[in-house]
Amino acid sequence: MSFQDWESIFEEKTEDLYGYGDSWSFEFDDTIEPDNPAQNWYQYIRGAFARFTCSKCKRTWPSKRVLVVFDFQLQERAKTGTVKARRFRQNCKRCQGAKMEEPQFELDNIEVLLEKLVGRIRMRCYREDLGENNRGFRPVGISEGPHESAHCEACLRGICRKSE
Ligand SMILES: [Zn+2]
Ligand SMILES: [Zn+2]
Repeated sequence: MSFQDWESIFEEKTEDLYGYGDSWSFEFDDTIEPDNPAQNWYQYIRGAFARFTCSKCKRTWPSKRVLVVFDFQLQERAKTGTVKARRFRQNCKRCQGAKMEEPQFELDNIEVLLEKLVGRIRMRCYREDLGENNRGFRPVGISEGPHESAHCEACLRGICRKSE
């Protein structure tokens, strides 16, 4: 999915925050590290479902363990909030020297991810007390083999985890 999809869903999900008078922006950033947010930034990590396509052999495969990391910060004086997202990649197990491919998320799954993220923003940046929202992912009817740790960027860094 393209950046535009993420950005427009993000705008939709953050509309409710307009009441606070802050404007929030969204960007991808492949330099952020899990469990190590920059000072004064909050972090939210989730495993999600996505598909990959090998750019060499065109094989596609699903994975329920695609790590997505969000760093977020509200600059109260500037009235601006920033979210940075990193989606961990996987590579093809059939091709020699296959490059790491970007995950492709379905719109529904992007929606759920960003909804959960905005929930975190409300709790952390606005001190809202939210009840548990248990809307889950929908990896229904997807059969996949064992997680291919040798081909998962997050596993290679020892930071992979299952969806919640
Ligand atoms: Zn391949
Ligand atoms: Zn992994």
